[in-house]
Amino acid sequence: MSAAAEHRRVVTRHELDEPLLAYDEAVQRIVASFEPLPATEVALSDALGLVLARDVVAHDEIPAFDNSAMDGWAVRSSDLAAGSAELAVADEVAPGAAVKVMTGQPIPDGADAVVPWERASSPEDGRFVAEGPVEPGRFVRRAGEDLHTGDLVLRAGAVLDAVAVGLAAAVGAARLLVHPRPRLGVLSTGDELVDVAEPIGRGRVRDANGPLLSAIAMAAGATVAATERVPDDPEQIAAALHRLAAVSDLVVTSGGASVGEKDWLRTVLEREGELSFWRIAMRPGKPVASGRVDDTAVIVLPGNPGSVVACSHVVVARAIRCLAGRPAEPTTFPSTLAHAIDGDPARTVVHPVRRDDDHVVPADVRSSQVLSNALGAHGWVIVPPGGLPAGSAVEVEL
Ligand code: AMP
Ligand code: MG
Repeated sequence: MSAAAEHRRVVTRHELDEPLLAYDEAVQRIVASFEPLPATEVALSDALGLVLARDVVAHDEIPAFDNSAMDGWAVRSSDLAAGSAELAVADEVAPGAAVKVMTGQPIPDGADAVVPWERASSPEDGRFVAEGPVEPGRFVRRAGEDLHTGDLVLRAGAVLDAVAVGLAAAVGAARLLVHPRPRLGVLSTGDELVDVAEPIGRGRVRDANGPLLSAIAMAAGATVAATERVPDDPEQIAAALHRLAAVSDLVVTSGGASVGEKDWLRTVLEREGELSFWRIAMRPGKPVASGRVDDTAVIVLPGNPGSVVACSHVVVARAIRCLAGRPAEPTTFPSTLAHAIDGDPARTVVHPVRRDDDHVVPADVRSSQVLSNALGAHGWVIVPPGGLPAGSAVEVEL
């Protein structure tokens, strides 16, 4: 017996007969097992996409001074109350005299309105005609018009999008307290796997899941701390899990998750840490497991790259959102199914769909686990056991 085989714990008939974890229950357990990472301060330039952990409040009036909304002439509106009038070009605003002002410049003392270039004649001999009538305050942006001192600008829990970053900059929040980007460790397992740069042949498969999971992680707002590839060997899998756990907030593995002779993940997770659940009533993704190694969460996915994409949507992306402090559930949009999805008699099916006008078209039903079928998909439909007929109203998950 090989050293590896001695460690093997064969799955018992009893375990295989146990009911699979229901889809909804698995989702709930994933969501319940992840909390937002402890807040840290980051520079504003690193904050895009992160979740704010402390309110941002304005400490100034924004804008801080009355200023011009247009390039033009700062005037006294009373000079133009009755209609157009001739004004003198001056350095100070006074009755009958106007001062040149550019957009954003302070309104000169004595002026209470701006006449844009377009509504004034070109000056000749220091005089020009301004179009009237002009009401007080016209084209003047008031101090505090945007924000007052003490105003709540961004609420804790907000996802920092581009506009939020701009607002934080405007109020001088150079550093922000945020939940940091989750760090993912990615482990590909399989004797057959070779690097993407390697030639393939009989029994050799390029490691698509490593780059795939790294891309999924980054698209979901995580960073990739490390990636590794190991053969179906329990010692090497264990060692890689410990190494990845040391530098990650979440380790995601692919391959070796089921009950085949070379499927070691469940055994290794039980031996090296803890297994919290294994096997979900989901297609694809029946062998998905979750657990911990060295106090770092581990999610175990099957090896088929098509399954990895679907399972990542359900499990990995939720875990990342929870760690990042975002709402756990995906964004959805309502639509209508263009064709039926047969589904599965006993399992929930996770099916890629493409948006087409006011309905969604399911990817080829027979081969939904093939990676290329999810290419160009806009979202996912969660198909209950028994399937969905054409015309079904669905919430498409993004
Ligand atoms: P497994 O879950 O280990 O039984 O693998 C299921 C299928 O996925 C097999 O055809 C594997 O060769 C394939 N597979 C496993 N890992 C990867 C990977 N990292 N990249 C591409 N295909 C993989
Ligand atoms: Mg395998």
